[in-house]
Amino acid sequence: MGVAGAKLVPERAVPAPTTRPATPLIRTSTAGALLAIAVLVATTVAAAIWLSIIDQQRQAQEQLTRQAHAAALQIRARLIETEQLLLLEGFAYASSTDRFRRDMEELLDANPALLRVELRTRDSALLTGVDAAPPRPTVPAPARLALSPESAAAFDSAARLNRLTYSRPYFVTLGATGFDLMELVVPTGAVDGPMIVAVYAPQRILDHFLPGDLSGDHLYSLVEADGTMAARQAVIGQARGEMHAISPLARTGTTLQIRVDAMPARTRLIPNVLTGLVAATSVALGLAMFLLVRDIRQRARVEQALREQVQFRRAVEDSIHHGLMVFDLDQRVVHVNDALVNILGYSREELVGRGRPLPFSLPETTRDYRAYVDRVARVPEADGARAAERARGFQTVYRAKDGSLVEAMVVEAPMFDPDGRPIGSMLIGEDITEQRRVEELARRQQEVLQSRSRLATLGEMASTLSHELNQPLAAITSYAAACENLVAAQPPRPEPIAQALRGIRTQAERAGQVIRSVQAFLRRRAVDRGEVDLAGLVRGLEPLLRLQATRTGAQIRIDVPADARVHADRIMLEQVLLNLTRNGFEAMADTPSPERVLELRARVRIDDERGERVEVEVTDRGRGVPPDVVPQLFTAFFTTKSEGMGLGLSLCRSVIEQHGGYLLYRPRAGGGSTFAFDLPRHAESVPTRPVPTPARGADR
Ligand code: ADP
Repeated sequence: MGVAGAKLVPERAVPAPTTRPATPLIRTSTAGALLAIAVLVATTVAAAIWLSIIDQQRQAQEQLTRQAHAAALQIRARLIETEQLLLLEGFAYASSTDRFRRDMEELLDANPALLRVELRTRDSALLTGVDAAPPRPTVPAPARLALSPESAAAFDSAARLNRLTYSRPYFVTLGATGFDLMELVVPTGAVDGPMIVAVYAPQRILDHFLPGDLSGDHLYSLVEADGTMAARQAVIGQARGEMHAISPLARTGTTLQIRVDAMPARTRLIPNVLTGLVAATSVALGLAMFLLVRDIRQRARVEQALREQVQFRRAVEDSIHHGLMVFDLDQRVVHVNDALVNILGYSREELVGRGRPLPFSLPETTRDYRAYVDRVARVPEADGARAAERARGFQTVYRAKDGSLVEAMVVEAPMFDPDGRPIGSMLIGEDITEQRRVEELARRQQEVLQSRSRLATLGEMASTLSHELNQPLAAITSYAAACENLVAAQPPRPEPIAQALRGIRTQAERAGQVIRSVQAFLRRRAVDRGEVDLAGLVRGLEPLLRLQATRTGAQIRIDVPADARVHADRIMLEQVLLNLTRNGFEAMADTPSPERVLELRARVRIDDERGERVEVEVTDRGRGVPPDVVPQLFTAFFTTKSEGMGLGLSLCRSVIEQHGGYLLYRPRAGGGSTFAFDLPRHAESVPTRPVPTPARGADR
């Protein structure tokens, strides 16, 4: 029910508030969905980065291959330069070793990768050799006497095929270390002429033939075609990249190739804009998810709080026994609580959505109720007088579904949204049928007690009157009889006088008979004695006593032990207690209200002579009884009150004495009076002395 909303919505299918276990702040399904999104995002990002890295690697590989080609080209060009020179000029060297030496010195100057150039016969015997000047290392002469196997192979091939050939690289020891050498064998062109052998240091090829801007972050090396480092010493450093490219030098006789290795550090994690974008997107997505989760958690918390509030409200609503009904602005029912359903017997479904008149309202009351609603249920609290009238409520009668009538006290108040706009009204109804029944019962009980009290008083009066009138009537009868005799004895007898005297006597006798029959009737009243639980009796009187106390602004203190049982006539005993307490309350009219306390006490006492007795005291803090009044207190018709009958105390004493007890007055120390009486606990000590009793049967 959206009470706070701008419009009230009928709640047709209201689920019973369940006591669910505390809901987790994020439901499993939501968590699952979020996890799935997170996994998807992570996979996409990873795939994008991976693809990007692959692409980057492909590009790097291509670049590396290009670099390898460029390096091979560069080296090849320099090698070809020397080859060309030797091929062109070779023929001249066959005849002139001097020319050879001269040219070779120039060549060694121009080609920094060469260590030595030799002229050898076809049998590979050394004719002459020219070494490069220091700091280039000098190949020791003994090492050059016989060719190394690699050189010899190249030499043979070159001689046989008459074309230039490179040897495979081979290692020579030079001093403490050593290095790789590679030879270029060039036939001089003359038939069976000498051969030129140029000794290259591959290391120097790398060092001097590669332009500086090529090497960069890459690692260049010269390797054999089979991948083994045949010329290990010829490589620069030992490191190997994750990526490499190879390009052959493509010179006859050698399978040497240039290898370029990219260093691992070159692979960047975020290689390009795309990856950057993807990463940024995923960060944004992550942030969005974080915010979303936070929002969901907040929402869940609010929902939880709301649910608790609704449950709390339900609990409150269900715990009250007042019926609740909420109407929208069109006077249609939007909500009813359990209590209302229970009181009227109509189900929620039968009521929600219905307009006025509602099925339980009686046609006779509808008009008045509508007037009440129009007057008070549409005005805000600010209208004091109307609000007060509204709060007093409207008493009405409904017909429950089973046909029974339900008396109800109804209050209907307007409802407003947070902006003060009216959204409907709420009816709060209390079933006062039972209350009314109890009130009616109490009223009748009080009426019965009052009429008993009146009858008791009447009985006392009749008893007293009959007692007082008996004597004069007897005298009248005697006098009339004597007069009749006198008239009869003295003739002439005036008959009319005799008749009148007879009439007087007859009527006086009749009056006496009437009085005697009244006395007989009063005496005939069956005294209904039995064991009376005094505490229970006082408990029964308590509502009346408290009512008296409230009316007179006094307090009452009751102290009657549970074992206080007496043998008595219950109703008469009630009468005595009510008379004494009423006198007590009336006597305290002028006492300051905090001191207006009436005490009703009883206690059980064992008297050696009279057996077990129950003593009862009624003490007030009133004005007390003046000493000169005390002797008349219990006299019939003595009263100091303007509306008093003066029969209460006299009746009480009669009743108590009739029960074998005694009622007496004693002043209370500190002001006020105590009226005390005692009664036997058991039947045997009840006397038989006839006393006037109230005409009990009359009220039956
Ligand atoms: P009523 O109450 O009709 O006057 P009661 O016989 O009960 O008749 O009382 C007689 C009179 O005794 C009262 O008028 C009152 O003056 C006096 N009286 C009775 N009870 C008290 C009391 N508790 N304190 C002072 N005076 C009392």
